[in-house]
Amino acid sequence: MTVARPNTGMYDAVVVGAGPSGSRFARSAAERGWRVLVLESGEIGRPLACSGHVSLDVWEFVPDAARGELLENEIYGARFHLGGADSPAHRFHKETVVSNAIDRVGLDRTLADCARDAGAEIRTGHSVTGVEEFPDRVEITASGPDGVETFEARLVCGADGPRSKVRRAVGLPDPGELLHGVLGFSAETDDDDFVDVHLTVPRFFAWRIPRQTAGVEYGLAVAPGDDAPGRFEALVDDYGVEIERRCSGAIPIGPPDRTVGERSFLVGDAAGQTKPFTGGGILYGMRAADIAAREIDPERPATLHRYEHAWRSELGGDQTIGKLIRAGYSLPRPVQRAGMRAFAGEIGVHMDRPTSLFSRAQLRAMVSWG
Ligand SMILES: Cc1cc2nc3c(=O)[nH]c(=O)nc-3n(C[C@H](O)[C@H](O)[C@H](O)COP(=O)(O)OP(=O)(O)OC[C@H]3O[C@@H](n4cnc5c(N)ncnc54)[C@H](O)[C@@H]3O)c2cc1C
Repeated sequence: MTVARPNTGMYDAVVVGAGPSGSRFARSAAERGWRVLVLESGEIGRPLACSGHVSLDVWEFVPDAARGELLENEIYGARFHLGGADSPAHRFHKETVVSNAIDRVGLDRTLADCARDAGAEIRTGHSVTGVEEFPDRVEITASGPDGVETFEARLVCGADGPRSKVRRAVGLPDPGELLHGVLGFSAETDDDDFVDVHLTVPRFFAWRIPRQTAGVEYGLAVAPGDDAPGRFEALVDDYGVEIERRCSGAIPIGPPDRTVGERSFLVGDAAGQTKPFTGGGILYGMRAADIAAREIDPERPATLHRYEHAWRSELGGDQTIGKLIRAGYSLPRPVQRAGMRAFAGEIGVHMDRPTSLFSRAQLRAMVSWG
């Protein structure tokens, strides 16, 4: 389908949320000729609740000209610690750049601009309050600057993040777990090219990411009910730094059993499309957004199931291995120490594809170790 549809008042899709997943879906669908409206409750990219630490694949999703503006640091590896700031480090690294720290607010704005350029309409300041599916359409109610408005579409795309309203409104199940992430920035200038990872919080980790002149970021994520702010204070006290800006957000781990309804589908954090061992979801969300635009025909809602099947078959294997890696964060200390010694060194890592995580030498070490 490549021909734009006439303006009949009916959209092919209303996308709820202009984060990376929603904007990417809007762009890909508009490029295929869909008539797309994006409703975003706030302003694009704000408030920030993300490290913006991503694999180099991110550059496939933004115009080349944006790279210079968005790139903050190039990262070659990670120092893993079983204790705090001064504890011994196990270095995992590559000879070439593994990942980038990027300006996440700028990323969201760039992706939204790309969606607009492709023909999608984006309305900010529109908070979706209701979604109702009918046999021939879906109605989306939003509260905006001009009051309450209702929009009609063939499909609704829930790209509205971990606490998705669309998911709830259409009766789709929640992700397995919602972690609580907290991060903050100090004013230090640090051009180090390694991140630090501390396995000092239950079932997840704390981190330090140098961002050259954009400061240094400290953060952690914990299970709900745990004391995220208290643990964050302990982390920055341990490093002895002053934090100027801090923020927090939810991280969904473990996708829900279903991510499509009668005329609805979820992408990104709303669908639990994250890496279980880091909580990162920018790249998985955008990849799933492209899969949705490729597999779904807005005139044939039955094709929603093609999307469900395709995203799970393209991302599910990495999510399963990511879950196993995360289980390693909870192993007894002596086992972790032995594992670190066995695996540390040069890694053949692609950070979004844990299936590529270990080099041949490390796999050999794992077999002889286990
Ligand atoms: C502390 C922390 C650190 C992280 N670090 C990383 C990292 O380094 N790398 C990485 O890849 N990922 C990271 N993540 C995860 C990453 O932020 C998410 O995976 C990513 O933002 C998901 O994108 P999304 O578009 O699906 O959802 P979101 O980015 O959450 O976007 C959802 C959008 O929907 C809007 N919205 C919500 N409800 C409504 C409504 N009712 N009506 C209209 N609009 C609505 C929101 O305003 C928002 O703009 C981190 C998360 C946290 C919490």
